[in-house]
Amino acid sequence: MRYAMAIDTKKCVGCSDCVVACQTENNVPIGYCRDWIVESTDGTYPQLELELRSERCNHCKNSPCVRCCPTGASHYEQGGIVMVDHEECIGCGACIASCPYDARYPHPDGYVDKCTFCQHRLLSGLKPACVSVCPTKCLYFGDLDDPNSDVSKILKKRKWKRLIPEAGTDPQLYFLI
Ligand code: SF4
Ligand code: SF4
Ligand code: SF4
Repeated sequence: MRYAMAIDTKKCVGCSDCVVACQTENNVPIGYCRDWIVESTDGTYPQLELELRSERCNHCKNSPCVRCCPTGASHYEQGGIVMVDHEECIGCGACIASCPYDARYPHPDGYVDKCTFCQHRLLSGLKPACVSVCPTKCLYFGDLDDPNSDVSKILKKRKWKRLIPEAGTDPQLYFLI
């Protein structure tokens, strides 16, 4: 099993519903976030193109955050989900420094936090909170090893890119372009 998410940059309207849903579902403290919206502009005037991306932890297959964690708090779980064990985390911040995607933040309670792919919801058969609320249905989630999953089907149909592939982390967020 290999969980992944596809994000349709052509359908995202930048409403931030995914950000609010995540903050509510996961009790993210005020002033922090597990997901965020990036607006990036490509091209030269007057041929400019705006891309809107809902970003979060890439649940990388080759994660520097897992490798550098001195206590083993950062680890892989079923489906390749990268998790932080709050009890084991000493808040040293090595993982924050190692992440090329700036996907982690220091929780005020002393541990490091980030997107979990809403593992607690997956275990109940639900989709991640951000996926379930998106009004334009631009987030696709599922198991890449299952050809019938939403994410496998959309990746077969559409062109996609991954962010900062040169970092060699093998990220599992796919941006539809
Ligand atoms: Fe770790 Fe960052 Fe990759 Fe998430 S995006 S798995 S925090 S290196
Ligand atoms: Fe590991 Fe916590 Fe240090 Fe991050 S802050 S490297 S999760 S002990
Ligand atoms: Fe937040 Fe869950 Fe979406 Fe990750 S999968 S960004 S934890 S709502």
